[in-house]
Amino acid sequence: MSNDRPPLRARGAWSALDENTRRALDDRASTVDPTIRERTRDLIDAVRTTGDVALFDMARRFDGAALDALEVPRAAWVRALAALSPALRQSLERASRNIATVHRAFLPTVTRSTPEPGITVVRRPDPLGRVGIYAPGGRAAYPSSLFMGAIPARVAGVGEVIVCTPPGADGRPSDVVLAAAALANVDRVFAVGGAGAIAAMALGTESVPRVDRIMGPGNAYVAEAKLQLVSSVAIDAPAGPSELLVLADATADADAIAREMLAQAEHDPDAAVLALIVEAAGQSSLASRVEAALESQLAGAPRADVIRAALSARGGVVQVSSLEEGIALANRWAAEHLLLLVGDADRDRVLAALRNAGTIFVGASSSVAFGDYMTGANHVLPTAGAARSYSGLSTLDFVRWTTWQEVTPVAAASLATDVGRFADAEGLPAHAAAARAWERTPSVAPQAVVSPASPASSQIGGVTGDDLGDRLRFARALYDDVPLYDPKRSPVNLDLTDNTNLWGMPPVAERTWRDLPVARVTRYPSLYAAELKDALAAFAGATPDRLVTGCGSDDILDSAMRAFGEPGSVVASSEPSFAMIPIFARMNGLQYVGVTERPDQQPDLDALLAARPRILYLCSPNNPTGAVLSRSLLERAVREAPGVVFLDEAYAEFAGVSAVDLAMRVDNLLVIRTMSKAFGLAGLRVGYGIGAPALVRDVEKSRGPYKLNAMAEQTALAALQHDMSWVQEHVALAVQNRERLAAALAQRGFTPLPSHANYLCVPVPNAVNVGQALRARGVAARPFAALPHVGDTLRISVGPWPLLEQFLTAFDEAVREVNG
Ligand code: PMP
Repeated sequence: MSNDRPPLRARGAWSALDENTRRALDDRASTVDPTIRERTRDLIDAVRTTGDVALFDMARRFDGAALDALEVPRAAWVRALAALSPALRQSLERASRNIATVHRAFLPTVTRSTPEPGITVVRRPDPLGRVGIYAPGGRAAYPSSLFMGAIPARVAGVGEVIVCTPPGADGRPSDVVLAAAALANVDRVFAVGGAGAIAAMALGTESVPRVDRIMGPGNAYVAEAKLQLVSSVAIDAPAGPSELLVLADATADADAIAREMLAQAEHDPDAAVLALIVEAAGQSSLASRVEAALESQLAGAPRADVIRAALSARGGVVQVSSLEEGIALANRWAAEHLLLLVGDADRDRVLAALRNAGTIFVGASSSVAFGDYMTGANHVLPTAGAARSYSGLSTLDFVRWTTWQEVTPVAAASLATDVGRFADAEGLPAHAAAARAWERTPSVAPQAVVSPASPASSQIGGVTGDDLGDRLRFARALYDDVPLYDPKRSPVNLDLTDNTNLWGMPPVAERTWRDLPVARVTRYPSLYAAELKDALAAFAGATPDRLVTGCGSDDILDSAMRAFGEPGSVVASSEPSFAMIPIFARMNGLQYVGVTERPDQQPDLDALLAARPRILYLCSPNNPTGAVLSRSLLERAVREAPGVVFLDEAYAEFAGVSAVDLAMRVDNLLVIRTMSKAFGLAGLRVGYGIGAPALVRDVEKSRGPYKLNAMAEQTALAALQHDMSWVQEHVALAVQNRERLAAALAQRGFTPLPSHANYLCVPVPNAVNVGQALRARGVAARPFAALPHVGDTLRISVGPWPLLEQFLTAFDEAVREVNG
């Protein structure tokens, strides 16, 4: 170690470096110790032959842990997350949000090509089914690395994301890894480490499911296990020691260069850090200032030993004579991280010429540290020169491509001769015959090879645009995961499935609707239904500036998710609840997390909050149970939720309780209500939301103008202004009949859940079959299979008593038929 110069392996002009020094800088590939290779093979064999038994044994031998189970329950991750300091948690959340946003923007998309008329080739990215993320424990436990694997996997739509991470001596994996797993919303975590974890994920054991790809850094055994298992499972590129190449001209700041070199070198004594300074050899002004800065910063560096080791093995501050020489060297060196510090005039030109780098940081304020954690770019990057051939981790690593191709009969006829000739030349006569079968058949397809999209009867042998259109996917990525909401309702005499008002609609409203002047229909309705806002605000105890209307409360929920959800952010809902919530969430590119409610039918708020939802959906009275949300839970949710709380009060009129007063006071609660139920206007589609002015303005912006049609606005107004007594009277009747129906069911030995809405949720064995037997009798009620804590149930809308008597008769018969 010299007194005022850092221990660099290389300094001076690149052209003057001797061959050994150049090779030391260039050759960064690590070699594998043969004993590691042997031991890893034994570990993999043990997992292959004895599965879990081998994993328990390895936990004892390598981690000193006597495990009861390999899987770490979700409750443990949630606890680890709750124990994080709020400030650190905020930083982690910011990072995970940015990673999701960036990776979402770079998602692979469907591409279609038509090389000739009638030939269509489509390539579609399909997410992998299950991936495994390996997260080291102990001192090497980095939540950022877990994020870099798990979040892109989630964004790409991978079906299941599992994590393996070594247990500590107490049997528990690192808290920070568990907390990161909870934040990244993975599916399962296993306390399994080292080569055993890689083998378990590649081969599958009794506890650990086999995955389609393994990602994540680890020690030499982990890296070796991946290589040995590469024929069983896809892996990521081996992660070698970190690297930084700085390409700087005279405009660069020596302190900034030194800071970045130190930051990279502190990772590992084998890290490689090389500054290429564009200046005339011997001039040495910037290069010598960088050396001086390195030495002075080293003096105060806590990891100075590691840094000095790295600098003396693979560190250099080297001069090049021109930017062109620097670019050529940088492309040859293919650094994991490249920091570009050149004047504005050269910047774009150099950036375009740099081809081989894991990622490039442009300008001094683009510190590599930002990219390591926060910019949202992936920090899993090729090292040791692999950037010449490979890219950094991305959503592309979590999909595989499916291509499909379609040839119309007309196109087939035009291809047949060429393909036949080609096949003959290759000596494959059956191929030639398969092609030539289409030679003279532009109008009638041979039956044996008819393609499903081209019906044999189709005229002029062509496939119409429509035929193709049905099979082409222009929808955005992951859209296939969103189901079309279609409960397959067939007409019945008595429909008790949708909790609408079975008494009808308010009479004055009905007259208004019938008498609406034609001019109302020929012109646009009001932009944002201002008049109706006034009336709704007066009814609900709100003010018009805190109210937004929509095409049903569905529209409010959908628009609000679009307004408040960043792509990929979490919408959490207690389950069971309103079936549209997961659909709206996915439709808007958000991640849905369902959390089973507690046995007392209240939401499990701790678990919901642990999902760190951008949007927390609660429903009171809840559909389908009818339970009213406890006010104290709601207030806690509003206090502690990291984002907006949606409270769906579609049935609040029947419960007589509401949180509109709270929505008038806090800034993150949106109460959502509807005129579909108590007001009998489901077909007109009028919903509304109440919350802080800024909140409802954002929903309104997302909702857009003219969403409430003129008939709906006028009819709803009439009901609010002239027919409230009808509404109140029928709400009271619904409550009365609900209790009467509950008593009638109790007499038959059924115990409905206590309901505060206009329906009853009744545990009924084999509810789905009972529902079918009811339908056969012209009566519909909504069955739910296996609701948590209560089992199969039927949800029955309440209406006029004669209808409910009709229901009871059919119900008795249906239950007898199904359950004996
Ligand atoms: N929320 C809940 C809980 C519901 O049950 C429903 C309808 N079944 C809605 C919202 C949507 O109602 P609408 O769009 O008709 O206002």
